[in-house]
Amino acid sequence: MRIALALALLPALIAPAVAASIDGEVAQGALVTGIAAPGERIAYDGRELHIAPDGRFVLGLGRDATGNLTLDVTGPAGKTTLSRAITPREWQIQRIDGLPDKKVNPDPEGLKRIEAERARIKAARAVDRVAFDWEAGLQWPAKGRISGVYGSQRILNGEARQPHLGLDVAVPEGTPIAAAAPGVVTLAEPDLYFTGGTIIIDHGAGVQTLYAHLSRVDVLVGQSVRAGDVIALSGKTGRVTGAHLHFGLAWYGLQLDPAPLLPAQ
Ligand SMILES: [Zn+2]
Repeated sequence: MRIALALALLPALIAPAVAASIDGEVAQGALVTGIAAPGERIAYDGRELHIAPDGRFVLGLGRDATGNLTLDVTGPAGKTTLSRAITPREWQIQRIDGLPDKKVNPDPEGLKRIEAERARIKAARAVDRVAFDWEAGLQWPAKGRISGVYGSQRILNGEARQPHLGLDVAVPEGTPIAAAAPGVVTLAEPDLYFTGGTIIIDHGAGVQTLYAHLSRVDVLVGQSVRAGDVIALSGKTGRVTGAHLHFGLAWYGLQLDPAPLLPAQ
């Protein structure tokens, strides 16, 4: 009996205590933050996370993430894991009609353009800066009625398409658009096929925000911005039926829901 008890306790004795912790809700589409103890290194999904001087780290969970979020923690006493269940969410269905057919079913020329643009977006999203501007949190890039939420299943002109992976804010054309957090511009394009005038700002450690359908882009790639700086004017460029801002949040290109991080309007 004594031996059995000792054996049962053995894993607890061998596994070092985890000092790292995860903050807030661990849900589908969430930007998850946590704190590591001094000397700890944290890895998620095979990637070592950049840890801020104050110990904070950040990672993202995709719209369709399931099961557990498991972090590999390496501390002075050895390796262990920190695990939390991922809360599932329900997604809306959004039907949008009246889009130009070539924006739903692009012709060969359109497909060629889309492919070239995807490569530029991918390069901007691959930026990996050891910076912690994301710790400032997010502010609204523009205020207005929310006309589209993250995660909704989209039916465009009656055809099922990719889910909507951002937040749509209904603002009239020409509304000033502000940087949601401090950072460095990694993409500034006047007119992409789907997203029209598009800006991506990198906030360090893989965290980026995206601003789309802009009528005017007022920043250049490599430019540093502060939170609240006007970077563009809103518009209705790309695949849209009317003027609005599409606001996106990503972690190493994995698109997340910005809504839980924004203050009340
Ligand atoms: Zn949108």
